[in-house]
Amino acid sequence: MSGQERFFIFREGKILVRTDRREIAACSPGDWRELQPRAATVLPLDKGPEGSTFAVEMETGFEAGERFAWMSLRRLVGRVADEEFNAWGKAVQLLHWYRTHRFCGRCGQATIAHASDQAMICPSCSLSWYPQISPCVIVLVSRGEELLLARSPHFQEGMYSTLAGFVEPGESVEAAVHREIGEEVAVRVGGLRYFGSQPWPFPGQLMLGFLAEYAGGEIQIDGVEISDAAWYHYRRLPLIPGPATIAGRMIRHYQQILDGGGPGTDAQG
Ligand SMILES: [Zn+2]
Repeated sequence: MSGQERFFIFREGKILVRTDRREIAACSPGDWRELQPRAATVLPLDKGPEGSTFAVEMETGFEAGERFAWMSLRRLVGRVADEEFNAWGKAVQLLHWYRTHRFCGRCGQATIAHASDQAMICPSCSLSWYPQISPCVIVLVSRGEELLLARSPHFQEGMYSTLAGFVEPGESVEAAVHREIGEEVAVRVGGLRYFGSQPWPFPGQLMLGFLAEYAGGEIQIDGVEISDAAWYHYRRLPLIPGPATIAGRMIRHYQQILDGGGPGTDAQG
């Protein structure tokens, strides 16, 4: 393999990076030769003018040598450009989909990769599976100079963020916003405005960001998904997600609007 090919390499959920380079990057053809993989799953990712990219799952227990290290994908958030993070995210999602769709859910036959589409297909009954993406709404609710922020039991200590939840079958994203906010904190909102989106490969969400205005009700937390929620003045916020996440972008975007700085420069869309 040669040229500008790049390899997004995983083993047991961790990504492989070089330890002797300043920038975190996917492996080059030279790295690939150095690794000498014996048994690896290799899936084509993209074929662009700069060369092809591949998602690779190394066998369990594969040791990469001292010039390489295994790292959590989450640690990449904010440390590489969005496009680069999304390429790693695409790779991990395709590998997960490939691993979990090896047999037909209808007739039990072993599946095969579709010749041209990014799909797994059953050679017996022709049922096919495409990579799974789960749409998820994420909402910043404001009330004048206050923002409604909440924390989930699995958040890091002291961290508060926007509200989020999965879109259900048969539901519009707008309806999902109203339902999730109602379920999690029992307030009503209006004036929904679409903000932007972010692929979030943990394991396969597509985060759809909205700004919403408070329209009534008192905060009552559900106590399960949400362990605390409160209104915070935009200049006295608790610990919030970093600017590489859509939650962090929406919060900073709204702070800039309130500071009279216009719609901000780091917002998406
Ligand atoms: Zn089948």
